[in-house]
Amino acid sequence: MKAEVRAAVARARAAGHRIAVVPTMGYLHEGHLSLVDRARSRASWIVLSIFVNPIQFGPGEDLTRYPRDLKRDLELAEARGADLVFAPAVSEMYPDGDPAVVVAPERLGDRLCGAFRPGHFRGVLTVVTKLFEIVRPDVAVFGQKDFQQAVLIRRLVRDLDMDVAIEVAPIVRERDGLAMSSRNVYLTREEREQAQALFLALSMARTRFHQGRTRADELLAEMRAALESRPLVRLQYLEIVDPETLQPVAQVSAGAVVAVAAFLGGTRLIDNMVLD
Ligand code: AMP
Repeated sequence: MKAEVRAAVARARAAGHRIAVVPTMGYLHEGHLSLVDRARSRASWIVLSIFVNPIQFGPGEDLTRYPRDLKRDLELAEARGADLVFAPAVSEMYPDGDPAVVVAPERLGDRLCGAFRPGHFRGVLTVVTKLFEIVRPDVAVFGQKDFQQAVLIRRLVRDLDMDVAIEVAPIVRERDGLAMSSRNVYLTREEREQAQALFLALSMARTRFHQGRTRADELLAEMRAALESRPLVRLQYLEIVDPETLQPVAQVSAGAVVAVAAFLGGTRLIDNMVLD
């Protein structure tokens, strides 16, 4: 399959196409499909990959129960205009088991999600590097939903001189504001209702910032109080950070990002909003 992908991409390139890749873990939703649209605006031949990457999951995380529906994904991807879906088996991506060589972040990978998911971004950067090598795309499209991931991928291509343009597309949300995620199917009805609190808290911070409030501790306290009023929401982190260094800011200026992670029952959700 890797060889077939390489051959198909070579043919597309020979025909004059500009190649985009959209990496996903599947169970596609409108957030993923919006990345295909973005890819279409930057390239003429689109590879969508579907791979639940075992090395980015920690022990006790949801690797084995991660939702999958390849048949439906293939239909959705094709209908949206993907030219090729690459859905390799684990044995194809990691024929020798755990790789002996990986791509790992330095300290940027220890902040936010990285602090709670050790090894996660090492797994992400390794599999994205492999995908880039297999597809050799001109452009790769990621979602702002995974904000820290997008930051690290920009640094990946910059720091390792990879010749791939990185596009980051906005977060696609459900009608009540909840960020779309394959993991939303895990939520019970009550959890799903209370999950809206994440978006509401982020929106409140943005409103306050627009009203001229710039002290991060004040904004965070107000958001925390709103989130704590929802008993099913167990906050993991809530921070306002610099969009490049990911370090917490004391004084908020335009471009800072509010980032949140919370558990609802056993389901971990993340969300973020740029204060602009
Ligand atoms: P995943 O399948 O969750 O690994 O996501 C694959 C890609 O889709 C990543 O670049 C995500 O950031 C992006 N993505 C996931 N959910 C959304 C969303 N709600 N809006 C925009 N992009 C998203």
